[in-house]
Parts: sequence; structure tokens; C-alpha cells
Amino acid sequence: MDNYIVSARKYRPDNFESVVGQDSITQTLKNSIKSNQLAQAYLFCGPRGVGKTTCARIFAKTINCSNLNDEFEACNECESCVSFNSMRSLNIHELDAASNNSVDDIRNLIDQVRIPPQIGSYSVYIIDEVHMLSSAAFNAFLKTLEEPPKHVIFILATTEKHKILPTILSRCQIFDFNRIGVEDIRDRLEFVANKENIEAEHDALHIIAQKADGAMRDALSIFDQIVSFSGKHITYESTIKNLNVLDYDVYFNVTDAFLTGNYPQALLLFDDVLKKGFEANYFISGLASHFRDLLMCKEPGTTDLLEVGNKIKQNYLEHSQKCSVSFLFKAIEIANQADLSYKTSHNKRLLIELALLNICNLEDNAITKNSEVQVEVKKQKKEVKPVEQKQEVQAKEENPSEQITEKPVKEEIIVEEEVPQKVEAKEDKKEIKEEDIEVKEKPSSYKTNSTGISGISIKELAKSSDKNIELDESGEPKVSYKHLGQDEYNDEKLNYVWTKYAESLRANTRLYSFLMAHKPEKKEENLFVVTVESQAIKNKLESDMNETLKFIKTELNNRDFMLKYIIGETEVKKEFKSDQEKLEDMIKENPEVGKLKDQLNLDFE
Ligand SMILES: [Zn+2]
Repeated sequence: MDNYIVSARKYRPDNFESVVGQDSITQTLKNSIKSNQLAQAYLFCGPRGVGKTTCARIFAKTINCSNLNDEFEACNECESCVSFNSMRSLNIHELDAASNNSVDDIRNLIDQVRIPPQIGSYSVYIIDEVHMLSSAAFNAFLKTLEEPPKHVIFILATTEKHKILPTILSRCQIFDFNRIGVEDIRDRLEFVANKENIEAEHDALHIIAQKADGAMRDALSIFDQIVSFSGKHITYESTIKNLNVLDYDVYFNVTDAFLTGNYPQALLLFDDVLKKGFEANYFISGLASHFRDLLMCKEPGTTDLLEVGNKIKQNYLEHSQKCSVSFLFKAIEIANQADLSYKTSHNKRLLIELALLNICNLEDNAITKNSEVQVEVKKQKKEVKPVEQKQEVQAKEENPSEQITEKPVKEEIIVEEEVPQKVEAKEDKKEIKEEDIEVKEKPSSYKTNSTGISGISIKELAKSSDKNIELDESGEPKVSYKHLGQDEYNDEKLNYVWTKYAESLRANTRLYSFLMAHKPEKKEENLFVVTVESQAIKNKLESDMNETLKFIKTELNNRDFMLKYIIGETEVKKEFKSDQEKLEDMIKENPEVGKLKDQLNLDFE
């Protein structure tokens, strides 16, 4: 490695054109040169490694070049340019305020400022990390900044703009540098690799670009590090190994485990990750990002937000097909929640494992599952008790005023014939089943228990906000609206009845406005669909399904009328929600709950 020059230096851009990822800034600087409207003080703000100092140097060189080209770039040939390029120019002065922040340092600088340049027209003073100047130094500097000699241009750079005094800010033209995009960095790395005759896998460079977190300088240092590690051939494997980055495959594998409810596999994969020396929170936050990326793949419009290499992107597109949007929503939430709680958790490993288990259960209606939790759900439904209590509480919290909660539940039943309104509830239920609307799309687990439900009332089931009413009801003993006819009706009539029903619930403002906002649309003969925005709203409306149907059927005098609530365009999956999620649903429905929670500083342990 003789004469080895680090890439960050060797490939430091030497004109505006080659600056990566700051196009609008370089364009503005060029324009000001073109129109000869130079400010006397500039402030370059932005994170480290994004090109602030580089741009300052290019700017200094360009405004001193005696032979600008048509693009208003420095010629790199004139005397001034040559001295700039060999770092000998006397027109540029760099002061690192982090280490030279005393009043004396500034006085020295002020003395120099008076001396006009020998070659070129401007003396450029770059003060890096200017926020580090002591306040005395700041004050000493302020006067010079106010009235600098004509030949002087100050370029102040800082990573912490908020620490700059307003008196300084107001005297500078301010440029905000952004973190450089992953793609931009990767392209630049590709360019460097080419120049160096290094063969590098696309995905490998992508990982480096990601790791650099928006800083070109860091990206190039990492690149050098990888080169010294793996030589002229950079592979994805060697890169993730060297950078101690988790392989995407780990996340893909664990997601497969989630989707099949294979929780032992998920836990083993997690254990593997820990054995490789990764921190658990690194894994869980990576998992959250992974779900986020999968979600981005669900819509053509958002796939561009995916910051991964080509091959991996393909993988993401394929995997995203296996996941439902609602699964991804929940999974992101769970992973993120675990990530947030990580710091304060006493049993960090368990915290993450619990999150993994919760995610495993998300899709527990996905037919082939070995999840025990699923079995438990079934059991609970049959036995009623445990579920009931919990749900009652929940329903209450959720909506104290709702009639449902007021009714004692348990003893109601199976009934065949009409009558007390409990029974009516059943009727609807059974009708739904008859129509078999949703059932076939639904996982079987909920169907199976239906026949054996004897001890459960519909009300009870309806109460639980996270139960899917139609399904739960399926298989209930048959009751019918025999006394009703099969009158014909049109949309107008239905609309009228629907509105009338909504009006009848006016006292319940929330329900009323939901109903007014969500009108039924005809799906097929006698089957109407109401599209709502969220599971929470759907649950709410469904909990009133029985009353709703009774009212409408009666009003229409049509016993065949059927109604179904769906969320957006997507298939609605039933999930077993965590307390946290239930709470979130509640907050969604009623923001006051959230405020209350915050005010009282409530949280789950
Ligand atoms: Zn020149």
C-alpha cells in the first residue's frame, strides 16, 4: 500500500459538477458567480461529511480562477487554479473553530483579513465548526463580519445551525446541505470502484452507502476499509460481514416464520442473531425497517422509497406479495414499540421475543398455523369466561355509553325462534352465514367453533371490538325474518332507510356521523357493502350490526337484505390485538383518550 491515498481525498470533487447530491446548492453558487453577485459571508449548514468544506473550497477556487470555462467552472490550469489544486494557494484560509476558538485565534485571523490577495481577486476564509467559537471570539469576529474588506469572503460552516447567533445568521447567505441520498452515494462509489479497477457487487455498494448515512466522506472511508479487507473484489457477503450488518436474508427468513406462525423458528433465528454478536435492539429496529420496506413494495407508487440494491429489491417485491397490508401495519407497530421500550426494559431479550411472538400471532387466521395462541382463542370462545370478562372491560372503556355494554350477557343463547332482541341478533347472524359472504375468505378457525358456541351470546361476541362479527356469528342456530317479505327496493329507498336509521341513533353522535359518512354500496342482489377507513370504525359499526340489520330489513320489508363492512379495498383480517393496539384503536376513535393517557402519564408496563 505505498502511496496509498484515501479515497475520500483522492476523489474529493474538484469542481461543482462533481459534487454529489447537492445540486441545488452548487447551481446557486454557480449562478451567483455567473451574475457576479457574491455575498461577503456565507453560512454552510448541514451534517458532517456532506460536502460543506468541499463546496467552500471549490467556490474559493472558482471565484479566483482567471479563466472560467463556459460552465462557470474553474479551469484548473491558470496560476491560481494550479496553486489551489496543489494546496499552496494563499487565497484560501481555513480555520477549524473546534480547535482554534479563542479570541487570539480570531484576532490573528482579523489581522490577516486586511492583507489583499497577490494573485486572484478574493481571499476566502473558511471557518469550520463556527458554532464552537467562544462568545468572546464571536464578538471579536462580529465587527469584521459586518464590514469586511472588499476582497474578503467568509464561508462559515457548521453542523449545528441552531447554535449560531442571530447576529451572525442575519449577516450571512445561508445554504442548507442535505444528507446525500443512498443512490447518489452508491453511484459515486461505483464510479470510484471503476477508477480503481475494483469489482464490486451492486448490493455491496448499496450496503456501504446505507451505512454511511448520508455522508459521502464516510462512505468512501468505509469503501477503503472494505477494499483493504477483501481486495479487488467486493461481494455482498464480505461487506455485510465486515461492516457487521445483518444480512437481509435474516429478516426475510424471520418474516417467513411470522407468516406461517412458526414462532419457534422466529425465536431460533433471533437467537442466531444474538450469537453472531448483534444487539437485540439493532435487530428489532432493523426488523421494523424491514416491514416498512415490505410495505413500500405493496404500492407501485412507493417502491421508490425503498433504499436497497437491485437484487435485494427484487426479493422485497416478491416477499411483499405474501404479506397483507394490515399485517405489515401491525408488525411495524409492534417492532417499533419494542424498539422504543428497549432502553427501559429489564429483560431486553424477553421484550424482543415477546414482540416476535406477537407478530407471529398477527396472522393467526392464516390457515396453516401451529400457533398455540390460536388454539387458545378458539378455546376461549367456547368456554366464554375468560374472554368475556376481559372484553367487557374493554368494551366499557371503549364506549361507555354504548348500549351493548349495558346488557348482561352471558345467559343468552342459541334460540331458534324469534324474539327478545337477543334472539334477533342471532337471526342476523345466521343470515350472514346463509349468504356466506365473507366466510370463505376467512380462515377456518372461526367457523369451526360456531356450532359449539352454545354458551355464548352474540352480544358478547359483538362486544369484543376485535372480533369479526359476521364470522363469529356464522353457524349460529337459524332464526329468520320470516315475518318479513321480499319487497323490492332501489338505492334511493335504501339510502333513505339508512339515513333514517342513522337519525334514530343521533344521540350517539359518533355512531351517527359514522353512519352518515359511510353509505352502503350495492355489491350484488341484496348484498351491500360499506367501506370504512379503519378496523376501529369497522368494529364499531359491526358491534351494532344486529340492530342495523333489523332496522333496515324491517324498513325495507325485505328479509334478504345483507350488509357487510370492509376496510378500504383490502381484505379484512381478524387479529388478536394486544392491549397496546386496542388502546391505539381507542385513541384513533377518540383522541380524548390519548390526551387523557398522556396527561395521566399512563402506559403499559
Ligand atoms: Zn483557473
